Amino acid sequence: MEFFQFTEEQEMLRKAVREFVEAEIAPHAAEWDEKDHCPVELFPKMGEMGITGIFVPEEYGGAGLGHVERAICLEEISQYSAGLGIALMTHHLGIAPILYFGTEEQKQKYLPDLAAGKKICGLSVTEPAGGSDFMGQKASGELKDGQWVINGRKCFITNAHVADVDIWAVVTGQDEKGRALMTAFIIDKDTPGHTTGRKEHKLGLRGSVTGDVNCVDVVLGEDAVLGGVGKGAKIAMSSIQEVGRAGMAAIAVGILRGCVEESVKFSSERILYGKPLNKLQAIQFIIAENRVDYEAAQLLTYRAASLKDVGKPCATEFSVAKLFATEAAIQAAKRTIDLMGGYGCINEYPVGRFLRDAIATIPAGGTSHVQKLIIAGSTIKGK
Ligand SMILES: Cc1cc2nc3c(=O)[nH]c(=O)nc-3n(C[C@H](O)[C@H](O)[C@H](O)COP(=O)(O)OP(=O)(O)OC[C@H]3O[C@@H](n4cnc5c(N)ncnc54)[C@H](O)[C@@H]3O)c2cc1C
Repeated sequence: MEFFQFTEEQEMLRKAVREFVEAEIAPHAAEWDEKDHCPVELFPKMGEMGITGIFVPEEYGGAGLGHVERAICLEEISQYSAGLGIALMTHHLGIAPILYFGTEEQKQKYLPDLAAGKKICGLSVTEPAGGSDFMGQKASGELKDGQWVINGRKCFITNAHVADVDIWAVVTGQDEKGRALMTAFIIDKDTPGHTTGRKEHKLGLRGSVTGDVNCVDVVLGEDAVLGGVGKGAKIAMSSIQEVGRAGMAAIAVGILRGCVEESVKFSSERILYGKPLNKLQAIQFIIAENRVDYEAAQLLTYRAASLKDVGKPCATEFSVAKLFATEAAIQAAKRTIDLMGGYGCINEYPVGRFLRDAIATIPAGGTSHVQKLIIAGSTIKGK
C-alpha cells in the first residue's frame, strides 16, 4: 500500500470478500446474534478464500498476503457480523505466535490446517484475577522429568469451546529480580486435563464463543514450547499488541462503516414533514460525524497495519487505532440510533447490535484505559 492508498490487488480482495460477506454472512448476522451461534461452518469456506490464513506464507498453505489485507477482511466481515469478526481475528491471533516464533516443525504441523480453516485457533492469556495485570498471571508450568505440567484457569477466551489449538502463556519461573518468567505453549484441544468451562452470555460480539479454558495437570513435551523457555511474555504481548489490537481496530472500522451506511439508508427512506429525513441539517451533521469517524479510524488502522507489513514498530500505532476506532464506534452507533428516532430501538434494524458490539470491543485486546497508558508512556518517551 502506498501511504493510505490501497493497491489494485487490495481493492480486488475487498470486492471478493464483500461479495462473500453479502452472500454468506449478511443474511444470517441478526440470527447468529440472537441465537449466539458461532458459524464455525464458515471457517473452511473462509479458508478456501484465503481469509483464515491471510498472512500465512503460501509454503504453509496460506494466502501469503499481509496485515493490511487482514484488516480489509476483518472490516468487511465486521460491517455485518462483528461477532464472526472477533472469532476470525482471534484465530489469526493464535496463528501469529506459531508463525512468528514457532519452530519449523511446529509451523509444518499446525499452520496448514489452521490456514485452511480446517482447524480453529485461540490464545488464552486473561485470568480471573484481572486481564490488565498481565504479569500477575497465576497459571503455571513446571518441568518434571523432562515434561511440562501446566495448571491454571483462563477466562474470557474467544473461541474457547471451538478452538482445536490453544496457545497459553504461563509462569515457569522467576528472573533474578523475582519477576515472573513466562513461557508460551501450544496445546491441542484433546490433551488430557485441557478442558473448557463456563461459556459467557455476552452483551455484544455475540456469535463468537467466549469462555473459560482450564488446564489441570496437562502434560506437554518440549515440542509444545513456543519460542523458547522464558520468552512467553514477549510472545503473548507482541501478539496481542500487533495482531489482537490490530484486529479489534479493524472490527471497529467495520462497525463504523455499518453506521455510515445505515444512517444514509434510513434517513433517505424515512419521510418526515413530507420530505426525506436527510434534508434536516441536524441529521446531516450525524451523517458527517459518522463519516469522519469512519475515515479517521480507517486511516489509523491501515497505517498501523502497513507499518507492520514493512516490519516497522507499530505497537503504539495499533493502540492509537484501537482506542480511537472502538470508542468512535460506540459514539457512531449511539448517534445512528438517535437519528432513527423510535426505529433505532427496534431490533429489526442492526444499529442496536452495532452499539452492543462496539461496547464489547473495548475490553477485548485491552481496555481503553490500558491503551491510554501505553500511548502516554510511549509519547512521554518521545516515541
Ligand atoms: C469479547 C471479549 C473477548 C476476549 N477475548 C480474549 C481472548 O481471546 N484471550 C484472552 O486472553 N482474553 C480475552 N479477553 C479478555 C480481555 O483481554 C480482558 O477483559 C481485558 O484485558 C481486561 O481485563 P479484565 O476484564 O480482567 O478487567 P480488569 O483488568 O479487571 O480491569 C477493570 C477496570 O480497571 C481498569 N484498569 C485496569 N488496570 C488499569 C490501570 N493500570 N490504570 C487504569 N485503569 C486500569 C480497566 O480499564 C477496567 O476499567 C476478551 C474479553 C472480551 C470482553
